[in-house]
Amino acid sequence: MEPWSTRDPLAILMGPRVIPTGTDLLADGRATDGSDGHGPVTVTGSKGLMIDTACLQCGTPAGSSLATFCRRCGLPYGERPRADVELPSCPICYQSVDDDGRLPSLDRFGLRVDLVRHRAEHDLYPVGDDDWLETMREGDRIRIGRWSAPFDVVRRYLVTGQVDAGRGRALAHDAIVNAMTQISRWGPNSLVFGDQPEWAAARAAVSELMERYAKGRR
Ligand SMILES: [Zn+2]
Ligand SMILES: [Zn+2]
Repeated sequence: MEPWSTRDPLAILMGPRVIPTGTDLLADGRATDGSDGHGPVTVTGSKGLMIDTACLQCGTPAGSSLATFCRRCGLPYGERPRADVELPSCPICYQSVDDDGRLPSLDRFGLRVDLVRHRAEHDLYPVGDDDWLETMREGDRIRIGRWSAPFDVVRRYLVTGQVDAGRGRALAHDAIVNAMTQISRWGPNSLVFGDQPEWAAARAAVSELMERYAKGRR
């Protein structure tokens, strides 16, 4: 059995790791650690964050510095994703990686990082107050005042709604309010009008929730 096969990908995200040289590129294509020829680099000077490389196509951590290709999709590490695959997205901020399999670093302007490092950067750059949000969680639902709604749907709205202030945000907001009021109380086929006090109160509760959640954003 290969030594990495038993390792938990999440555990890999938590612990300090050595970054194999040449895994990240500056926007102009230069390797970040190629300039001085010294081995592992740290991403954040303050915290000394060091993590594994990851597959640019599916985001799976390498798990071993000896592995040369992804055990999940077979792509060699460091290689661009194929054009015909669906690219992975961050479960924290829901952003998909770009065509090169990387995202702009949250920590260092001009640096592009793989998904594993991007996720680790959220430790220092959270999208909202998730500790607080978790306190209202009930299984796969979240309690919002006297209502409840699917946790994942609400969290996605709280995160993406901070950046998308357009029509998409309004629709998501209404969908959540509908889920909180109409469906849970009167069944999916009932009609609730937007000016009803119950609906208005649920709307206000969701708006408040977003405001409070966003306070944890950095
Ligand atoms: Zn892969
Ligand atoms: Zn993210």
